[in-house]
Amino acid sequence: MTPTDVCITIDTEFTINGALEFPQGREPIGLPSLQRLVGGCSHGLGFILDTLERYGLRGTFFIEVMNTWYLGDGPMGQAVGEIQARGHDLQLHVHPCWQSLSGRKDGTIPADGYTDSVCDMGRDALVALLGEAREAFERLTGHPPLAFRSGSLVAHRDLFAALAQTGFRLSSTLCLGVFEPAEPELRVEGGRCRFDGVTEVPVLTYRSVKLPGRSSYKAATVIGSSFSELKTLIDQAYRLEAGPVVILTHAAEFSRAADTSVSPVYVPAPLIQRRFERLCRFLRDHADRYRTLTFSERFADWTSEPLPARAQPTLHCGLLGLGERLIENNLLPRLGVA
Ligand SMILES: [Zn+2]
Repeated sequence: MTPTDVCITIDTEFTINGALEFPQGREPIGLPSLQRLVGGCSHGLGFILDTLERYGLRGTFFIEVMNTWYLGDGPMGQAVGEIQARGHDLQLHVHPCWQSLSGRKDGTIPADGYTDSVCDMGRDALVALLGEAREAFERLTGHPPLAFRSGSLVAHRDLFAALAQTGFRLSSTLCLGVFEPAEPELRVEGGRCRFDGVTEVPVLTYRSVKLPGRSSYKAATVIGSSFSELKTLIDQAYRLEAGPVVILTHAAEFSRAADTSVSPVYVPAPLIQRRFERLCRFLRDHADRYRTLTFSERFADWTSEPLPARAQPTLHCGLLGLGERLIENNLLPRLGVA
């Protein structure tokens, strides 16, 4: 059987820290919110880079660039330098809220007006935003982006037309477990699809046991899925030939902020760190079945190959994975052991 492509994607962004909702008392946190230092040791970006390196894997870092409107190029430029020096892939991530924050500062946007959703923007505004974002990305990284991901994985049909118009051919924005688009054709769970000539490779959504009051859709994330679930999904995708498997994580998942109101204090999250470590070890140890690749490495094939003839199958996780998740994510933190 053909090995399944697995992509570890890291949305690389700063914490806006409530600066839009509370303009008087809050300021965004730049680089410290990515590094998340505890006693001089990184429990954020540095932890991710060290772990990937330990297992010989490369990640795709979706770099949020609109923060440069408010913070300048310095802070994200430093993070980009560190990621580039460790040999990883860089792609484009855009949170429009930063544009609102800078617009408010210079008086071009009303004090109570802001959005962080590309769904609130018409085609022309999106084209302008994507043009600015592309420019900022090239300034920070020295090369154009090959792939795009919107803030909070929000999407509507016009986004793909705007992406096509601004020269993008690859996107990884859809994720039914996080955001349900209005248009039925955008409600896809994984694999590959195409809109306006733009190939979309969604963050994987799977079905879990339905809990009362919750959707059975879940996004494949390091913080939200147990290791058993991630392992089951990767194996199921291999057996059903339902790749690629795109997994999402953030630097903020590996520690929690105990206090962000004045200066941030971070506390490591050992269970989540161990989960990422186990995932990386599993991928390294089964490289014959699962190829951990980057968006740059797969760009040419994904954008040129015909789409699979059959519909993307739904991937499922059962009670075992759910039990592990509830213990690790709910019970142990409540008991103060995580
Ligand atoms: Zn984001």
